[in-house]
Parts: sequence; C-alpha cells; structure tokens
Amino acid sequence: MNHFELVEASGGPELVCEGVPLATIAQAVGTPVYVYSSATLERHFTVLRDALAGAGLKDPLIAFAVKANSNVAVLRTLAQAGAGADVVSEGEIRRALAAGVPPERIVFSGVGKTEAEIAFALEAGVAEINLESEAELHLVDAVAQRLGRRAAVAIRVNPDVEAGGHAKISTGKAENKFGVSLGEAERLYAKASNMAGVRPMGVACHIGSQIADLAPLEAAFGKMRALVERLRGEGLSVARLDLGGGLGVPYFNQPPPPEPAAYAAMIARVMAGLADIQFAFEPGRMIAANAGVLVARVLHVNARPEGRRFLVLDAAMNDLLRPAMYDAFHDIRPVRPREGASQLYDVVGPICETGDTFTRDRLLPPLMAGDLVAFMTAGAYGAAMSSEYNSRLLAPEVLVKGDRYAVVRPRPTYDDMLGRERGAPWQD
Ligand code: PLP
Repeated sequence: MNHFELVEASGGPELVCEGVPLATIAQAVGTPVYVYSSATLERHFTVLRDALAGAGLKDPLIAFAVKANSNVAVLRTLAQAGAGADVVSEGEIRRALAAGVPPERIVFSGVGKTEAEIAFALEAGVAEINLESEAELHLVDAVAQRLGRRAAVAIRVNPDVEAGGHAKISTGKAENKFGVSLGEAERLYAKASNMAGVRPMGVACHIGSQIADLAPLEAAFGKMRALVERLRGEGLSVARLDLGGGLGVPYFNQPPPPEPAAYAAMIARVMAGLADIQFAFEPGRMIAANAGVLVARVLHVNARPEGRRFLVLDAAMNDLLRPAMYDAFHDIRPVRPREGASQLYDVVGPICETGDTFTRDRLLPPLMAGDLVAFMTAGAYGAAMSSEYNSRLLAPEVLVKGDRYAVVRPRPTYDDMLGRERGAPWQD
C-alpha cells in the first residue's frame, strides 16, 4: 500500500501524495520533480520489521540500501523509524551519518572499496564491512592494523542461485562479480579469524533485485544456513547472518511479489533452530520504490500522420534511467485525468537518444501539452541514478508529510552546474 491516490477535488479527480496534490508541488517547484511520501516509507519499513518480528526473528538489523534512494531527508525518515543503512561508498556512509543513522547500524558492502574508504568506515565505527574477495580481506586487515583497530567483517557469499528477473540486476550467480563461492567463504572465514586486523562476525549474501518469487531466496538462504553450521562446526564464531535485500515490489499489471509476512515465514522456516544469530537485511526497493513518483509535464503531443503518437515530456532518461537501462516498467498516470477515450502513446523525453523512451504503445487517458503525469514506483533507483546528461539540471526532490511538503533537494541553477567547471590555464 502507498499514499499516492486519486481523490475527488473541486476541479475533478486529482492525484495526491498523502494530503498534498501533486499539481500543487509541480506548480511551486516546477517539473520534473521527485515526490516522496514519508508515510509510505515508514509503513514499508514497519511492515517488514513487524513481519520479521511476527515470524520470531528477534532484533534484526534492517539496513536500508542507500543506493536505492540516497536523499538525506529520506534516510532520516527511515533512521527515525529505526532503520540502519547498507552503504557502498564513502559518500553513502557520509549520507547515512548526516541523516542520523548510528554507525553501529551501518553495513559497508560493495565490490571495490578503496583504502581511503575503508579507513573512513573504520574511523566512523561502522557495524560491519562485507568483504567481497580475498584481496579485500588483506586490504581491510592492513588498514585496520595501521589504524590500531580490529575491523568487524562479514564474508559476502555468492551462493550461485539464479534470482530471476532482469540479468542486469541479478547478482547471485557464479558468473556475477559479487562475493566469493561457498567453499572460498569457508577458507577465508577461517583465515580471517587468525588475522590481527579483522574479526569475522558473519556471512552475507544478496542475490538480486526485484525478486518476485521466494524459491531462489529460499535456495540461497538454505545454503547460507548450511555454511553457518559448517563454520560453527569448525569452532568458528558466527554472530550475524546478512540476507541482503532484493524483495520485489508490486508493479502495476505485473504479478504481485511475495508479501513480507511470507518472506519472513520462509526465513523462519529455513533458519529454524539456528541459535544465537542476529539477522541483517538490506532492503532498498521494497521500502522506497512505491514511496516516490516522478512528476513531469507534457511538452508536446506529436501525432504522426502514419500513426505513432509521441508524448514528449520534460522528464528524460537522465531523470529516470530505469526504462532505458533495464527495460523497466513504470505505471504512468495523469495527475488530473481528463475524460475521454484512452489512446496509445509512445512516452519519450527530450534527450537525443532513441533510448530516451519510457515506454511504447502505452494506453493512456487523453493528454494535452501542459498536462502533468506521474511515473509511479520511482522512489527507488530513480533520483539516485539520475545524471546531468545533455546538461539538464538534476530534478529536485520533495518530501511530503501529511499536508506539508518540503523541498529536500532544490533544483540546481545553471550557475551551480557551470561553476563546477573551469578552463585550463592555457585557455586564458
Ligand atoms: N544489498 C546489496 C549488496 C545490493 O547490491 C543491493 C542492490 O543492488 C541491495 C542490497 C538492495 O536491493 P533491493 O533494492 O532490490 O532490495
């Protein structure tokens, strides 16, 4: 459930976020603009936390995957609800800290951490560094020893499970770049327990994103449980099992993903009897995706004589990359739907790339230049992946709470954009 809905207003039905009409925000802030619902963020976090608690999984660390939505106000909303943060760079650690996430709830993941990033994470006191290779184990050990510290680490395992969904968001197959094999994990864990700069805390996995079926997760988690038991059988201490993120979200017109309660019940079943372990989770999409929309304005409707009808928006692939990158589907809704027969549209942005096409042959209510549309399910991997391609300014971000809203990242100015660059000395 989310808090974007069509309500009856004096001028006809209109799309609102909690108590604020999207048209009001578009009018005040301009378009394109990202709009997030605090109540939806909080609800999704609470639903997951309660589902895990209901299944008997005590005190899990729910570390929101900052890559999904890294806006500090969004992170603060989640931190205040009790979330930690799963981060993959120094920038994300800084964002999580700025949002008030306690360092002991920060998990540092990622395939290639630099020495400087590792040092920064250790100085900040993060809960755990997830190691993705033997080389990284040695690097973290060396950095920690240099700083006179002992780094809490987990070994990220690649359980070699096909997660389903788009190949570009699958991470748990042997051919993907993430983590080490189960056998390697055992060897590295034993090795790490004899190193002065690291303290192995546990093992971690994350097999992909937008997973619509519990079966691959169950297969991966079963392998992780067996690994924990093997490690413990060797006399090694394993205090934490990080099961990653990846749970899919409901998309308009797509089969519904598993409910958090079913996910939690499956984990409880797979892990039954595994004593003294803290579970960690790294959800991104399931918390943020349906908590945000991208609002855009129609610039033109180009109806070609030969048949295609292009809806040209002021939002483009630089604002929302997912359709171009992953063929991702986003429901597109008029903010103030007009009456009349629906028509087929190719919805495109103004960028000079054929890939700047959000969708083709989409049946939508009639739309005219100046109308507003909302891309639904844009709160995860939306603004976080945006760029200034074609020298377009980054879309602003707005957070709604009840009947209030605040611009939590203003639209930059062209002076901001140009001010970051300078000529070379020989050009003066
Ligand atoms: N954890 C790790 C290590 C990831 O790489 C990702 C996404 O790529 C996530 C968590 C979040 O995944 P999702 O947003 O699908 O929950």
